[in-house]
Amino acid sequence: MDLGSPTSGQSETQANDEAKREPMHALEQEVMVCQRCQLANSRTKAVPGYGNIQAITMFVGEGPGFDEDRQGRPFVGRSGQFLTEMLKSVGIQREDVYITNVVKCRPPNNRDPLPEELAACSDYLTRQVELINPRIIVTLGRFSMQRWLPGAAITKVHGQVRNIGRGRVVLAMFHPAAALRNPQWRDEFAKDIQILPNLMARARKANEAAARGEALPAGVPHLGDPDYRSNSAAMDEPATQANAADAKPA
Ligand code: URA
Ligand code: SF4
Repeated sequence: MDLGSPTSGQSETQANDEAKREPMHALEQEVMVCQRCQLANSRTKAVPGYGNIQAITMFVGEGPGFDEDRQGRPFVGRSGQFLTEMLKSVGIQREDVYITNVVKCRPPNNRDPLPEELAACSDYLTRQVELINPRIIVTLGRFSMQRWLPGAAITKVHGQVRNIGRGRVVLAMFHPAAALRNPQWRDEFAKDIQILPNLMARARKANEAAARGEALPAGVPHLGDPDYRSNSAAMDEPATQANAADAKPA
């Protein structure tokens, strides 16, 4: 894949692409040899992330599964196939987005990542978000959702767009592995992903306006204003419901 080629998900300049490429490469190299947590001992390959570094949309999953650990690429197994098909069904190519995980190394037997592993790996994701600077973060599954919507219940917030400040929104979705296991969640997944094309189009417009130094075009709520602060009541709803949609990598 040519990460430098213009795609429909791209809105920034070639110069910007070059400015991002080197630090992203350095970050990937760091992840590849990282020993910050015990997952380093059981991994085959670390999986830093993959995709368009100019993407407007970043997907964040849980952690590498069997195939990802072998190949060093995120979402290349069954879950990944499903994700790719679902994206295609709404006209989005994988090349348009960037995909990574909250932990970059496979938890043995696809167990849940432990709090200390999430903590140890957290800084890489922080830097990836800063570098790519996506308008839209799509969280896949509970662990990824919890990073931006702590305390939320995925069964409640999936399919909702939440403002997280700095002109960024989070769209929480079920994990593809959960969707593959449960027909109801599969339907919800298919429904939720339909939100994306329009959201991405709005985000692109917001970026284009910002690049021209213009005010926000009409119909771009939440997405163009770096100083926007969420006043959404939904954001403040405490989620008490136990999360029934726990997802593990397939
Ligand atoms: N599941 C995940 O959460 N991430 C992957 O990369 C693959 C499967
Ligand atoms: Fe390092 Fe993250 Fe892999 Fe742990 S999971 S070894 S912190 S890259």
